[in-house]
Amino acid sequence: MLKRTYFHFGLRARYCFKLNYKRWISGSKINLQNVTRSKENIILMGSPGCGKTTVGRILSTKLGKPVLDIDDDHLEPYWGMPVSDKLSEVGSDGFVNAEGEALLAFNAENSVISLTGSNPMHSDGMAHIAKTGTVVFLDIHMEDIIERLERMKVNRIVGQNDGTSMSEILKYRQQFYERWYDARVICERNEDPTSVAEKVLNKLSSLESSDSQGYVSTRGLDLGDKQFNDVLLKGLADDGGLIVPRRNIPKLSLGQLSRMVNMSYTERALRVLEQWINWRELRPQDLKKCIDNAYNSKTFSNPDICPVFSLDGNQFIQELFHGPTASFKDIALQLMPQLFVKAAESELHPTNYLILVATSGDTGGAVLDGFTRYADSTKVNINVIILYPSDGISSIQRDQMIAYHGGNARVIGVQGADFDFCQTNVKKIFSDKNLAEELLRTHNLKFSAANSISFGRLIPQVVYHVTSYLDLVRDKVISMGDEIDLCVPTGNFGNILAAYYAKEMGIPYKRLICASNSNNILSEFLQTGCYDISSRRLSKTVSPAIDILVSSNLERLLYHLSGEDHSMIRDAFTKLQHDGNFDVSPVVFERLKESFHADWCSEEDCYRTIKETLSNTGYLMDPHTSVGKTVADRMMSDRPMIIASTAHPGKFAEDILNIFGRSSNGMTPPEMVMALQELGPRPSEQESLMNTLEKNTMGNRRVCDSNYDSLVSEIKSVTDRTL
Ligand SMILES: *Cc1c(COP(=O)(O)O)cnc(C)c1O
Repeated sequence: MLKRTYFHFGLRARYCFKLNYKRWISGSKINLQNVTRSKENIILMGSPGCGKTTVGRILSTKLGKPVLDIDDDHLEPYWGMPVSDKLSEVGSDGFVNAEGEALLAFNAENSVISLTGSNPMHSDGMAHIAKTGTVVFLDIHMEDIIERLERMKVNRIVGQNDGTSMSEILKYRQQFYERWYDARVICERNEDPTSVAEKVLNKLSSLESSDSQGYVSTRGLDLGDKQFNDVLLKGLADDGGLIVPRRNIPKLSLGQLSRMVNMSYTERALRVLEQWINWRELRPQDLKKCIDNAYNSKTFSNPDICPVFSLDGNQFIQELFHGPTASFKDIALQLMPQLFVKAAESELHPTNYLILVATSGDTGGAVLDGFTRYADSTKVNINVIILYPSDGISSIQRDQMIAYHGGNARVIGVQGADFDFCQTNVKKIFSDKNLAEELLRTHNLKFSAANSISFGRLIPQVVYHVTSYLDLVRDKVISMGDEIDLCVPTGNFGNILAAYYAKEMGIPYKRLICASNSNNILSEFLQTGCYDISSRRLSKTVSPAIDILVSSNLERLLYHLSGEDHSMIRDAFTKLQHDGNFDVSPVVFERLKESFHADWCSEEDCYRTIKETLSNTGYLMDPHTSVGKTVADRMMSDRPMIIASTAHPGKFAEDILNIFGRSSNGMTPPEMVMALQELGPRPSEQESLMNTLEKNTMGNRRVCDSNYDSLVSEIKSVTDRTL
């Protein structure tokens, strides 16, 4: 029944909002030139009552483009009668068709076009008009619409007669808007049209203007007009720097964030990621499909995906380990491979890809799961090679990765190496021009990265930081706008950098706290402004995923904080390579200290926190989370503190059993995980982890020597065999 109902404003409301043009013009900081220059139409779409007409008029004045209202300027003249007469003539069932046919006869360019609320329900008509420009969806809160309609005493609602409520019809309509939009403008509650128009312009100018688009290397190399897809495929910039967006980090106002409080993880993810990805490269509708594939009951064992709960008073845990391989890396790596595949497919001259990854334990499994899950469904040949320090990761992590070995995936232990060796050599391979040319010539193959140095890994992580804040608002722990602290066990600086991006987007963090283990280079740096690894040696800890001395993503943060000072970054990281150290300027150091704080945790403290937390709260943490909690405990204020729980304890069962004095001698990895479960019921067992461990085949284990040439010949032997 509902399928055929719709409503149309025959007596369409014309809101007479008082427009404060003076404020509008003086308050506008947008470069309109690029928006104006475009020949394309700006097509405003949304529910009846969302303000399309009024916003259209404001845009028209601002941009000097004519405004065309489909109702008044097209339908009425086309039909030769008022819309309401047509409605009585064809009835509510025939109206969408009549309207759609009329739309097919509509032609305009370089205009601002206000659609009717029901235009998007006619596919052909809508496809016709969507081709002529950018469809902007004014996404307004349903309560606002209902209030406006009531205020205007609108009672002419077609199709509402059979007991369907206004909100049911509005909800039904939503799917059509979702299907057609290029750019969504999230409207705040009760936002006036002037301000909505400004958001529209902001959105358009951020995506049209050539100097606000594109990417650069932190070390200065301009990537030209390289876009998101290129960046995904490329991984690392040719000058050895990391790729960062040239434009400003997108923003969400508190009012826009408020709109997302009662949404699901995937709904929030779509709204956050839309801000980062140009719809010309990936349509929001395709992005939504990728998001829905990535985060669902098949891939994540918790319906909230990244649930937040109170551990102890004002201390909250966000569990980031419900994905297939039980660490937070899954959150990025269930999404990123899908984006990668789409990007690879859209290339003019398709090539094969070799994703080369150095892992300190958790990235490897997550990359393998993500890429094997999605690589089969594409004709693009994507290979994965994982390098891990053969004695630097837990036996469970190792077995988990080896379970994926086969097909286009190879898992190789580098003997006698630590993670830094693996990562440094992966970077070296990426910048080895001769090797790249050879593989391209012989195998039509290019390298790419899936480490957290890959930009495509970073932005999916921004989402869960946004959602943990929204969860606290939803659960009434805080009010929108209240400040909170976040503490993250930090290694390669990807997770906490994503939190910095979330902060720049608008999440009001007071402190972003990096927690290190005894490899405390980051906390030393954040306390002194001097990064010095010259006399350091990596020590092995029970939190191996943060056993890192060269923390790659720090380079991105310093780039942003230095005001995009390429030469400073180039000098600093070249100096790090040669002398093993660099200093940041007092100005950058001050900026760093404004947001970032750090401390570290000894092995003994890490053990003790695991034990104490289990006995005080019944919750068993993995060692990385324990590093986070230990540091968080020292830094508590009266603000809520979120601790990122980055792995399920089952992944580190052997060490945790040891900490509790239980021997794991002779146990298989699945037995260890089972034994761990006896210590405490929370968190519950990770089923996907168990499934992977049970299918492990040790026969796949493969090692190589720790020197550059051995790595290169491993790579060549893999590519020779699989391509
Ligand atoms: C990778 C990892 C970390 C470190 O994350 P970064 O983004 O590199 O700082 C922390 N904990 C676990 C369990 C990890 O797998």
